[in-house]
Amino acid sequence: MSLAAPTHAASSDFLTANRLTYCGLLIVALSLPWVGNDYWALIATRAAIYWVLVSGLNLVVGYAGQLAIGYVALLTLGAYTTSVLTAGNVMPPVHPYIALMIAGLTGAFFGVFIGLPALRLRTFYFAMTTLGFATIVTQVALAWQSVTGGGIGITGPEFPAPFNSAWGFYAFCMGIAALCTWMTSNVAHSRHGRALVAIRDVEVAAESCGVYKPHALIKVFIIAGMLAGISGGLFASLQTYITPDAFTFELSVLFFISILIGGRGSIIGPLLGTIILTLLQEIAAPLAAWSNFLYAVLLLVIVLAMPGGIAALIDFKNKKALHSDRNLVLDVDLLGAFKPETKQSQPLDLKGIRLQFGALRAIDGLDFHVKSGEIHGLIGPNGSGKTTTLNVISGFYSPQFGQMVFDGQALPAGLPHLRAGLGIGRTYQTPKIVGEASVLDNVMLGGIASSDTHFIETVLTLPRAIAEEQKTRHDALQALRAVGLDKFASVRADRLQHSELRFLEIARALMGRPKLLMLDEPAAGLSVEEIKKLGELIKGVAKNGTAILLVEHHADFIFSICDYVTVLNLGKPLASDIPSVVRVHKEVVSAYLGA
Ligand code: ADP
Ligand code: MG
Repeated sequence: MSLAAPTHAASSDFLTANRLTYCGLLIVALSLPWVGNDYWALIATRAAIYWVLVSGLNLVVGYAGQLAIGYVALLTLGAYTTSVLTAGNVMPPVHPYIALMIAGLTGAFFGVFIGLPALRLRTFYFAMTTLGFATIVTQVALAWQSVTGGGIGITGPEFPAPFNSAWGFYAFCMGIAALCTWMTSNVAHSRHGRALVAIRDVEVAAESCGVYKPHALIKVFIIAGMLAGISGGLFASLQTYITPDAFTFELSVLFFISILIGGRGSIIGPLLGTIILTLLQEIAAPLAAWSNFLYAVLLLVIVLAMPGGIAALIDFKNKKALHSDRNLVLDVDLLGAFKPETKQSQPLDLKGIRLQFGALRAIDGLDFHVKSGEIHGLIGPNGSGKTTTLNVISGFYSPQFGQMVFDGQALPAGLPHLRAGLGIGRTYQTPKIVGEASVLDNVMLGGIASSDTHFIETVLTLPRAIAEEQKTRHDALQALRAVGLDKFASVRADRLQHSELRFLEIARALMGRPKLLMLDEPAAGLSVEEIKKLGELIKGVAKNGTAILLVEHHADFIFSICDYVTVLNLGKPLASDIPSVVRVHKEVVSAYLGA
């Protein structure tokens, strides 16, 4: 129980700020029918319908960082699907509820379809496809007169009583909006949400932790597409009559900007953003021609005045000063919880590895092995191929020659996202941390490879998903305690010092119970005192049977803690032996250590 204490205490005011906002919105939503007129019902219903779309889009844009700027296309598709099916233009009329579900499925299908470029290409292409698709959909709606009514339009669906009055439909849309808030918030606060944010901010580290980007993105494209399709069906009903010009580019901009002014990586922020922009659209109706201009001004003001958006404005927890005591107190006894489940005497074996970049042989015939429980130092001058070696083992580079064996099995080249599951963990020369996520969330990211609950279980927070989340949280707090960072668990990671980030990365890597832990210059930027603690930590991890591959420049540090040292020069091993031998090796001294 004591393990959970620090986060709870520190995050309580943040939770209340968020909860208070949700409660306020709920009170407004419940009291509106008693105090408002039909005009207010219309605006509030419109806000709810927009939010149904934006809540899903928020996972794509705000969490996964993909620039989907043409989501009005999916709204259009959903609106026409529902209207055409209920009108019976192509087949006997379908019940509005069923038509709405079919619109959701259509949205999901096309959500994935337009998302395909994002799986392989940079975000810019995705922005262009969503935009191009929006134009195509509108053109098809215009041209396919027999089905869509072309420029004349088509009647929107009417939902049966009690949802056919202004307030009845309001209640229907509010119910769906509340459900969307709940479901997307479940995703956001799960391993899936953490994976999305990691893809957005530190793609390489995300892969090493076991996140496979195409899978992670397809799931949110499905959910975002589905919600956009449903939103379209509701939109058509609210409009009562739709023509292609109801689906303007301004609407797409409204969705996108709601998320930006709300703040990325938040649910409540974009929700407030959607409400504000819906109201603004209404207030500025006489200035309709200026709407894009107004959005742009609003966006500029927000970006300049509060770059984190509304979410950062109400994030009180991160406005408080940090603990003044920055001294890291390790608890190496807790490391036992992260020992590998099984161990081979020699988990890693490299034979004849060669990797060329053009004419440059970055690794040129490298043989070595690391034993379990051993601290194996890898040293050498700058550019001698140390980081490249780690990248080959991590699967980021595929060597042209050579074999790798890990844990008794051939280790395939490439496939970085499978490494964590095999028991290979690592840190980076420059720490790769999700700055906007909490310290605890960063560590929990390391538990992804060992989780096996399905996406649907997360969306609906079924018992297995809850249990897994609790276990990961418990383990992550334990890892943070081990490296002495538990007091910062709920703090945004970018508020930590550089040296603390190095320990944070180690905690994240420990979450995968690594058989092999690779550390790339972990002592760089650390004080003498911190280096001592780092040594203690590394020895503690090795004692539990994890093999350590330690790249370092700090000669004293290497020679004091390593069991074995390999010296690289120009991609070739110059010497490989116990520290006392390497230290006095003639070529090593002249090439690297100096007199
Ligand atoms: P270090 O031992 O300092 O970690 P690296 O492994 O980073 O050295 O680099 C080894 C050599 O390979 C350097 O000459 C570097 O410029 C080159 N290199 C590393 N990565 C790449 C790449 N992606 N493309 C081209 N050259 C690279
Ligand atoms: Mg390097």
